[in-house]
Amino acid sequence: MRVRVDEIPDSGRTLGFHWDQEMLGRFVPPDDPFSLKLLKPVNVVLFLEKSADHVRVTGTIKGDLEVACHRCLNPVALPLDERVDMYLVAEARTEGDEEEELDSDVLLYEFFDGEVIEVDELVAEQIFLALPVKVLCSENCRGICPGCGANLNDEACGCKPEASRSAFANLVGLKKPEPEQ
Ligand SMILES: [Zn+2]
Ligand SMILES: [Zn+2]
Repeated sequence: MRVRVDEIPDSGRTLGFHWDQEMLGRFVPPDDPFSLKLLKPVNVVLFLEKSADHVRVTGTIKGDLEVACHRCLNPVALPLDERVDMYLVAEARTEGDEEEELDSDVLLYEFFDGEVIEVDELVAEQIFLALPVKVLCSENCRGICPGCGANLNDEACGCKPEASRSAFANLVGLKKPEPEQ
């Protein structure tokens, strides 16, 4: 969806729509480490308000996501409930106007061409911003054996424990799991 700024009435414009997996597919990189899925279409409600030098976008993005555990790749449900509050600032108009005071309560500023708001891009961006840096199915996830590829949560594999213990588990200071023999 694209919204032209000159089509936003002075009283503002409300957008309410569903945003689905197919739409997401247009923005997810092919090597997406999250294997991000929308369990149902995301519910988007946005209010666009224009001023002389920016468009403020407020609203909510809600849905149920599924992402892959970073250690074992099992699916992990991730509720999405994002509050949107951002300024879209027309790029051309801010040049030479850097002293302008921007409202510090607003969470996010972004530049756009000043004419067309790429709403789908904006939604995709908000969803990606909402993803945690690291997703684990559980704090104690044992991950995948680098030797044989077995999911160590489900089965003990025949590899030596040294080989299957991820270096990362030590780094984050978790208690080392005792070998299960
Ligand atoms: Zn896991
Ligand atoms: Zn193994």
